[in-house]
Amino acid sequence: MFEVLQNEIGFDHLDLSESERLLDVALDDLRNNTLQIPPYLNPVEWIEENIKIPQGDTFRPGNLKLLGFQRPVALDMMDADVDQITVLKGVQVGWSTFMKGILFYGLKYLGVKIALAQPTKGDAEGYFKDQIKPHFDDILKEIIRTPKKGDIHDTWDEWRFLNRAALYFRGAASDDAFRRISVQWMMGDELDADGWKSTERSQGDKVAMFMARGSAFSNAKMFLGSTPVNRETSLIYREWLESDQRRFFVSCPHCGERQVLKWGSDKTPYGFRWKTNEHDHVIDCWYVCEGEGCRIDEYHKQDMVEAGEFVPTAIPTRPGHRGYHWPRWYSPAPKACWVDIAQQWLGIKGDTEKLKEFINNCMAEPWDDLGGETLDPESIRSLQTKYRAEVPDDVVALTAGVDTQSNKEGLKDGGISDQLASREITIVGWSRNKIPRVIAHHVVEGEPGDASADAELDAIRTKIYRKADGTEMKILATAIDMGGHYGDQTKAYAKARATSRVWAVKGRNNALGTRSALVFPKKPSRSRKTGTSWYMIDTQLAKDFVGRCLTIRGPGASSFPHTLPETYFDDLTAEKLMVDKKGRRYWKRKGKNTGEAWDCLVYAYAALCGLQASSSVYRDLNLAAEKLGIGDALPPHDPETGELLDDAPATSLSTASNIKRTKGIQKQNEPLRHGAEKVQAEVPKVAPKPVAKRKKQGGRVVSSTARRW
Ligand SMILES: [Zn+2]
Repeated sequence: MFEVLQNEIGFDHLDLSESERLLDVALDDLRNNTLQIPPYLNPVEWIEENIKIPQGDTFRPGNLKLLGFQRPVALDMMDADVDQITVLKGVQVGWSTFMKGILFYGLKYLGVKIALAQPTKGDAEGYFKDQIKPHFDDILKEIIRTPKKGDIHDTWDEWRFLNRAALYFRGAASDDAFRRISVQWMMGDELDADGWKSTERSQGDKVAMFMARGSAFSNAKMFLGSTPVNRETSLIYREWLESDQRRFFVSCPHCGERQVLKWGSDKTPYGFRWKTNEHDHVIDCWYVCEGEGCRIDEYHKQDMVEAGEFVPTAIPTRPGHRGYHWPRWYSPAPKACWVDIAQQWLGIKGDTEKLKEFINNCMAEPWDDLGGETLDPESIRSLQTKYRAEVPDDVVALTAGVDTQSNKEGLKDGGISDQLASREITIVGWSRNKIPRVIAHHVVEGEPGDASADAELDAIRTKIYRKADGTEMKILATAIDMGGHYGDQTKAYAKARATSRVWAVKGRNNALGTRSALVFPKKPSRSRKTGTSWYMIDTQLAKDFVGRCLTIRGPGASSFPHTLPETYFDDLTAEKLMVDKKGRRYWKRKGKNTGEAWDCLVYAYAALCGLQASSSVYRDLNLAAEKLGIGDALPPHDPETGELLDDAPATSLSTASNIKRTKGIQKQNEPLRHGAEKVQAEVPKVAPKPVAKRKKQGGRVVSSTARRW
């Protein structure tokens, strides 16, 4: 009897599912018929039901339908875990309509207070007039106030609504832009426009000041978007790097491989490929799948994007900050079709400005002068030329950089290091535009401080170098690396030759990825004991400059004498600019090259910086060139003979990698990976995923795709 009772205390054996169902039905009935509470609409549902696109306004009039890469961002506005959304966007991705949809959802449906900031006050007023004001007659009509006598009157930049919502327009450029207001939602547009940059008078970072406007609300959200511009100064990219960096994954309609569509290059097995006709017009463009090399066509795009999903690719610096990447090729806008994108790419033809525009507007990535790419020895070797004389005609000043090696074999034994120690020196001429013209590179065997080795270095350093017209030139400044075991000897060598601007230098230990304001410090470091001094230089900053010089082709390119050995160029390209996940940029040795040639060129540049800081004549190389009557470019000459040419063809200023990338190598002849040609002709093996359809559930409309996020 007792045992039976115990068993009956548990309810496991009871089937309550029927009662549960009845309760649901009863609640639905109560809500829908008796109380008539309108169903809760999430941002996607509300926007799609309420925002209508007028005829002629877009390629798709009618009810606004959010896209596969827009829906998750909209849903984040109601996610309690999210406090910041950062969108790195291309153009033609439906941004302004999307932002408007979010804004109206907040104002009308939720009744929240919102501040919308554009770069300038003028931009904000224009945005109000063009984008918001017309909706006072439709979407916002029911919540518009008619202030009576004594009520606060609205102005174009401050609106109060009947449902307690408020809308403030601000121009980030104004110094007091964000003072005084307290809002739940801070929406910032075109963050990479100048208006958002901090100035001396703005007393701080504008993005941070904007975010502070929400501090009174526990559920405040900041929503930022922009097409990125320059990596080094981009605010949207800075914010993106702090976020969880979500990228949009789609499934290949053929093999099902989940992947982020990337532009790709001739070196990547995946990416966009195209076919052109005889006029260089793109007539077909497709994507080569990263999984099986399948051919993915434009007509697969819509289904792929509808079923796509965002996946975080980084740990955000604080939880709640989500970042989204919207490149143009996911967009269904007619101008975002792949054929047009490929045509735009072909139109770059080595033009740096056009390439930058493509990277910003289409790839939705910031422009990087160095592109994070490896300096290519083959390509730099092509800059070798026969000068008319030892020193090319456009050189304004000569400097030298010296690298010191304790020994080359990694041996530190005192007995034999005498023979193994060496110094390498590169003599560099600088044009009025600071274009480096390498004159010579020498190796001086022997320990620093050794009389004969020092004498040999002196001979190279004090030699008179000549131009074709007979002009004599001296090395005006020399920077010698004091790293390794010969710091004292190097300092002593420099001290004895200080009047000839011979400086001992040492790389400063900056935090990873940071740079100083100057390569060459204003003041030397001193040793009280020996009375010697040296200079702590920012080698990272110097390397940025030298690296950028080496990527330039055309009239702005660096040049190298034909006398340099092959190995010089391998050595010159010993380092690569790395960019880590946090966006920190630093130079790193790659492979086994010892990199003396690279270091010497970097020190020669540091010497130029020191020269410019210490000599009023050379502070401005342009002015110095004017005074000395030196031309502004290397006159065209035959690279084989060094003879002057009358009409050398003009080449455009562009970087090596850019030219390589725009040669059209992604064109028709690019072999596809296995199976690709076959797939092209056949019906896709795997049916594309069906477009997500809306379905009724429990009395309210739920978008099946929306629910997945
Ligand atoms: Zn595939």
